[in-house]
Amino acid sequence: MDNPSTPHILIIYTGGTIGMIENPETGALENFDFEQFKLHVPELRQFNYHIDALAFDPPIDSSDMEPRYWIKMAHIIADHYNHYDGFVLLHGTDTMAYTASALSYMLENLGKPVIITGSQLPIGQLRTDGKENLLTSIEIAAARDQMGHPVVPEVCIFFESRLMRGNRTTKINSEGFNAFRSFNLPSLAHAGIHIKYETHLIRRPRPDAPFRPHYLLDNNVMILTLFPGIRKEVIDTMLSVSGLRAVVMKTFGAGNAPQKPWFVESIRKLVNRGVIVVNITQCFKGTVEMHRYETGLQLLQAGVINGYDSTVEGMITKLMFLLGHGYSHNEIVRLMNTNIAGEITV
Ligand code: ASP
Repeated sequence: MDNPSTPHILIIYTGGTIGMIENPETGALENFDFEQFKLHVPELRQFNYHIDALAFDPPIDSSDMEPRYWIKMAHIIADHYNHYDGFVLLHGTDTMAYTASALSYMLENLGKPVIITGSQLPIGQLRTDGKENLLTSIEIAAARDQMGHPVVPEVCIFFESRLMRGNRTTKINSEGFNAFRSFNLPSLAHAGIHIKYETHLIRRPRPDAPFRPHYLLDNNVMILTLFPGIRKEVIDTMLSVSGLRAVVMKTFGAGNAPQKPWFVESIRKLVNRGVIVVNITQCFKGTVEMHRYETGLQLLQAGVINGYDSTVEGMITKLMFLLGHGYSHNEIVRLMNTNIAGEITV
């Protein structure tokens, strides 16, 4: 029997490199199931925690991630919310930042840690980074303060040595172990000999409201990355797709775009059609300031919304979430410039 103060942790294994094995014939990495996975981490038994696991069947490469899987993850967390103190979600690195962002909106007023991690090398390989990522994530998910409250009641990504807010994080390296960064918000914790938490940066749930999961998402959205020489036909074709409701536009520098009249006119027409257009910068660090240059100001005048310092993953999933919940156009415009899950500095 567990001591009542023993932390209860649920591992949710969705797939990704961490649980893959090399196919001897093709050399390609393929998923293997969670039972085999556990055999490679005997250390799990050394924790003084009660640890259970649930696995996606079949596990998926995160490049196949879809909103319906985010809904499945939110259901699993909500259904087990009262029985566990923290959740560790194992996920492929490729779209981990999108999942972390989506869950940060879907799990409203979260009061327990949801720590997402994965690895660059499969758990079965000698030099794997998966073990350290998994074991430290479990420790973070179980951490409590002196009052017995969870230290990190947020959706986070833990990778290599950094704990980062999920909706501020981006994958920046396809081969290094240090694969994720949160450029516009410092890490919430660093893991070295000790795990050092930056408690002043960590969000807390509102004490007057319950945890509220959400399951509605609308993927009638797109990301438009500008580049010098982009053609009118390309923009007009992309933006005329039927059913399109929102666009994240990745602009230059502080939120600037070409001054060509046809370009501004295309964007103005799009906004007048009721499509929401959000301006974020292609730079990793810094914020959009549409007042700063004429090239940004004209976007503001065309009705484009400022995405400030948020990530593309954070904005595209926020739009899916707000559109999915049937907010009015004006409400969405207002909420895009409201910090709802720590995703933006307005
Ligand atoms: N393709 C893999 C995935 O995202 C890569 C990884 O896990 O690192 O599922």
